[in-house]
Amino acid sequence: MVFDPIELSKAAEKAVCRARGGVVERKYTGFHVVGVYQGISTGYVCGCNLRCFFCWSHPCRDQPERYGGYHSPESAFRVIERLAARSGVRRARLSGGEPTLCWRHLTKLIELADESRELDLFILETNGILLGFRPELAEDLACFRKLVVRVSIKAGTPEGFSWKTGAAGWAFELPFKAIERLLSLGVRVYPAAVLDPRVTWGEDRREVFRRLGELGHELILDLEDESIDPYPNALRRMRRAGVELEWADEKVEVRYLSKLGDLVGCSDLSSDP
Ligand code: SF4
Repeated sequence: MVFDPIELSKAAEKAVCRARGGVVERKYTGFHVVGVYQGISTGYVCGCNLRCFFCWSHPCRDQPERYGGYHSPESAFRVIERLAARSGVRRARLSGGEPTLCWRHLTKLIELADESRELDLFILETNGILLGFRPELAEDLACFRKLVVRVSIKAGTPEGFSWKTGAAGWAFELPFKAIERLLSLGVRVYPAAVLDPRVTWGEDRREVFRRLGELGHELILDLEDESIDPYPNALRRMRRAGVELEWADEKVEVRYLSKLGDLVGCSDLSSDP
């Protein structure tokens, strides 16, 4: 049984966002500087509007009411900025969930990053569901100088999308619509896609390239391959979904490092998907 990702967005927002004195607070599980993008200060948010079986994120994705603590945009940003300054990195992002839930929280955070003397870049990693469904949201992003949006495409067909994310097939087009809208507003945007041939093949794969090509051939040149790695949470979710994948030896190393990270309280000693 598939779910409506817009309805799930509303339910997730109820669980992870709250308004306090006119400020939208959001739940976070932690803050770390990690090695991806050559070093980036990252706030780990709770809650998502998809249920990808290869997802590595914290169990708060599925039970956001049980985990995390609320932060205002200012308090989250202070931690992100302080960690960046301490580690000598000049990039920031949110990860671990869908950042576009709690929209006003996100836009305030990006505004703070835009004004910061410590940061050069804010990377908005999104699955594009809400930006595609409500294209007017993209207008709020057009003014930010330090923003780059990375839109993650899960599939090129409704069937592939429902299988991988659990969501209704009609929503597979939303990330493409989000990219189109952002491009039309002059927002810097690039696509990522789950291209792993073990889960994306045939028409599902061809359609990703065809649709991106229709939006602009340079998007295909910029396309990032979103890897699937054997992190403990991803393995648990795949087991539950009845998906069994073979792993190369070097990938098992990722799993080991991730477990070690859990032990020392940092989930990102290795690369971060
Ligand atoms: S992989 Fe990303 S979009 Fe998919 S469920 Fe996890 S956090 Fe959400």
